[in-house]
Amino acid sequence: MSIQPIIEAIKTYETIIIHRHVRPDPDAYGSQAGLKEMIVQSFPDKKVYIAGEEDPSLEFLTNMNQIFDETYKNALVIVCDTANAGRISDQRYDKGDKLIKIDHHPNVDEFGDIMWVDTSASSTSEMIYDLYQSAKHDGFKFSDEAARLIYAGIVGDTGRFLFPSTTKKTFQHAAELVTYNFDRPSLYDGIYSIKDKIARLRGYILQHFELSESGMSTIKLTKSLLDSYGVNPMETGQLVGVLGDIEGIKAWVFFIEEEDLIRVRLRSKGPVVNEIANKYNGGGHPMASGASVSSWEETDKVMKDLDEACMNYEG
Ligand code: AMP
Repeated sequence: MSIQPIIEAIKTYETIIIHRHVRPDPDAYGSQAGLKEMIVQSFPDKKVYIAGEEDPSLEFLTNMNQIFDETYKNALVIVCDTANAGRISDQRYDKGDKLIKIDHHPNVDEFGDIMWVDTSASSTSEMIYDLYQSAKHDGFKFSDEAARLIYAGIVGDTGRFLFPSTTKKTFQHAAELVTYNFDRPSLYDGIYSIKDKIARLRGYILQHFELSESGMSTIKLTKSLLDSYGVNPMETGQLVGVLGDIEGIKAWVFFIEEEDLIRVRLRSKGPVVNEIANKYNGGGHPMASGASVSSWEETDKVMKDLDEACMNYEG
């Protein structure tokens, strides 16, 4: 899909509202706010808003805007980093005049008048920088703040350039982005510094994870356990990667008990896990996906599926 229709739409509309997924991460915020920043720099007269719930842990990146219902009339709506329409934060996304999807997850749920989906991109933020590179010949401008936001999204979704999704292009973008003037150490602090209670829970996870013969690892974080550490389910997102460096683990799953469901967070170093996530109301990338189940009995089924995927994986 060509980027040109997206550039034309951005040039045409006076009001642009940018959405992203619920339970945001640095790439969701970074692509959304980085795109806004780029448009504002390029077209100071346009009204550009970012929509969705605030996440206190991402406030170091930006704050969301309050948007009245009337604002959607005649607006261009762009949804960043969200594969499924049901996971878009602020469901008024379909109230605009035109809808664009920009995403790097598998395109399971096709929505939007224009879709630009690139699963080879490390992050949606990387795609926003692609967009800038195509659009700069059309008068689009970039800024230090846009670079900070986009860099944060790329760093977040590549695990600091560690995951295999990191490509030559990712590094080329990063090399250009660091030539802008922003404070990288404080950005890394914002993404990676953790509260002491999270560090203690990390200790619990490292003491108590289970490892099967197949190379599957599991950890169950019940509500009472989380309460005893004073950690809420949202905050566990910072901990899912912790099992990634342990020898012998091919894939792992975190079960996190929330109010009315158990969140399933799957990660892998080889076996494909998004097919399992799809079976349990979820989705995501082949090596990082999420789902939800309604009981601890159902988590056994997820574990069985993951165990099989690990057993069948040759690598
Ligand atoms: P998480 O474990 O929440 O960090 O999610 C890992 C990846 O899976 C992200 O790319 C999410 O967008 C995706 N994901 C998580 N939960 C779901 C879900 N319920 N449905 C679809 N995709 C999901």
